[in-house]
Amino acid sequence: MLKRKLCQADITWELTCSGPLLIRDERFTEWKAIHKKKDEIFPDCIFLSRSTKADFDKAARESKNKPPELPFFVPGTSIRGPFRAQAERIIRSLLPENAEDGLTACDPFLQGKQADRTLLSCSKRLAKAGKEKSIYCQACPACRLFGCAGLGSRITFTDADIEQHASVFRDMIGIDRFTGGVYSPEKGGGANMHFHVLENTKFTTKISVVNFEMWQIGLLAYVFRDFAEQTVSIGYGKTKGFGLVKGEVKDIILTYPKATTRIEHLASLMKDENGYYGIINCEAPEFEHVTDLPQAMSFYCQKKVTDIPSFMQTVAPFFNCFIDELNKRAGGEEIQ
Ligand SMILES: [Zn+2]
Repeated sequence: MLKRKLCQADITWELTCSGPLLIRDERFTEWKAIHKKKDEIFPDCIFLSRSTKADFDKAARESKNKPPELPFFVPGTSIRGPFRAQAERIIRSLLPENAEDGLTACDPFLQGKQADRTLLSCSKRLAKAGKEKSIYCQACPACRLFGCAGLGSRITFTDADIEQHASVFRDMIGIDRFTGGVYSPEKGGGANMHFHVLENTKFTTKISVVNFEMWQIGLLAYVFRDFAEQTVSIGYGKTKGFGLVKGEVKDIILTYPKATTRIEHLASLMKDENGYYGIINCEAPEFEHVTDLPQAMSFYCQKKVTDIPSFMQTVAPFFNCFIDELNKRAGGEEIQ
């Protein structure tokens, strides 16, 4: 929406995963189909890496005998997807299911006309939207932050290199659906899935939110809390217990065009256009736990948050107020 940048939050977020983590390298499926000879046992998949073709080919060939060692990484999209899904879950749990269009999180995958109109994705619903209000104003809370067709995302996640890991194979036993027992080898089953996974991983992504509203930062605080409590999985094999990560916010930097002692946000910086963009007016809270960063070669004022828990406690209530406002508009009872 806005062409000019008024505020930005940059968050360094460290994720750790003690159990198996698997982001599949799709190159391997093709490689195996071409190179596998009869009776050779290769893993079903190997972890995604930035390896060159030559290194990848070598590691793939050797994966018959030992787990590969490559420059593994987790793409930003593999973090962003579950992050958005958790944010949507939080929003939906706080608003009535039958709320009007745009009041609760849409289902980004619902494209068909037969779909329940209320949950139809914003991409579909807003394709023919009127121009008197911005697309941003008419989009659902999730799309206002994460974007949809016709509306850019405000939040980005960088790819994360794996900083530490153990490269291992894990075999999964097939379960007989009828008896609930192990699928017996006589029937062609047994340990029938052979995965390459990483364990004891640590990786860090940088999250940037440009032109944020306070409730959006408040929503992030709730999503961060859920990840800190290890309730969200990423990657392949969630039903097998893979990818249960623990997130920890390490660093928050706020950038503004002018010096301030408050946590400024879109509404406090852009009063005139708030109606068109449907931005909820609210004061910028005072916040002491920040330190100014030196402004070398920059026109901006940068502040580093020195007390992250206090910051989260300051911003979270703005999301609660936003939800109260949406509930009022939905005419629904507030759900505890
Ligand atoms: Zn939406």
